[in-house]
Amino acid sequence: MDELNSWHLLSTALENLNIKPSEVEKVLITHAHIDHAGLAYKWASQGVTILVNKKDIPAVELGSEHLILQKKLQRIDIIRYGFPEYLAADIFNNKKQSQLSWYSCAPENIEPPKKTYNLINGHNLKVLEAPGHTPGNLVCFIPQTGELFSGDTLLPTTIPTPGMHYISSQKMKENYKRWPSLPDFIDTVKSLQKLKVRYILPGHGTIVDDPQKLFKRFNTHHQIRAKRIRNLLAEHADTPFGLAKRQYPKIPEKRLIQAMIEIIGHLDMFLISKDVEVSEENNKLIYTSTK
Ligand SMILES: [Zn+2]
Repeated sequence: MDELNSWHLLSTALENLNIKPSEVEKVLITHAHIDHAGLAYKWASQGVTILVNKKDIPAVELGSEHLILQKKLQRIDIIRYGFPEYLAADIFNNKKQSQLSWYSCAPENIEPPKKTYNLINGHNLKVLEAPGHTPGNLVCFIPQTGELFSGDTLLPTTIPTPGMHYISSQKMKENYKRWPSLPDFIDTVKSLQKLKVRYILPGHGTIVDDPQKLFKRFNTHHQIRAKRIRNLLAEHADTPFGLAKRQYPKIPEKRLIQAMIEIIGHLDMFLISKDVEVSEENNKLIYTSTK
């Protein structure tokens, strides 16, 4: 779907609620992914203020340029993590993906959100920093109703990817480093679990009315994955790609990137807990268990 179709769908959905796009003053973006922030430029062009956490502002300002840069850095890195170079060429030259346009949003229309907004019905919308799915990821919570707008942090049918993100301090734009996302992602979900959540309104899919079940599924998923990776590392040291292949021997290699990204996330956790060490051999990163 292109961005004009999305705009049309959004306008129709607002009309059904008796809201005209011209009545909208502020749009809050949970995170800088094209399917959540791709229409920011369109709102901004109508004079709407776009609220984005400051860590995700560069991505919303740059749009496609950000996407292309991130893909370039991911491609270099996944090869260091053991992914075959010829398959990376295949995947990263995929025309369908590069056809997506993400228009840059005018910086003067973007600002970081306040911590709380008073809603028209007297309720409060709390804007919470929830790093993980992206570095500047936000969620919103209404304490009076227990509604959590989770963006892509919690989804009803899948465990969201921690992704591979490269960040740079604004002043040194060339000096990008991978940001270890899963440790923060897991901490974020732990802290959301402590809120009195009654409903989760996710960025994709239907409303969840049993939030504890979803929290539990998220935690169990990562506990099981962590254990499997520990067991594989106990057998022998490996690259993240090698670990993905051993974890999913029946899946074609080219489809292992997502699994690899999750494994890299767990290895980031193990590096913090000093359960693994990493070394470089022939430009590949090898992880060894310290236990
Ligand atoms: Zn997303």
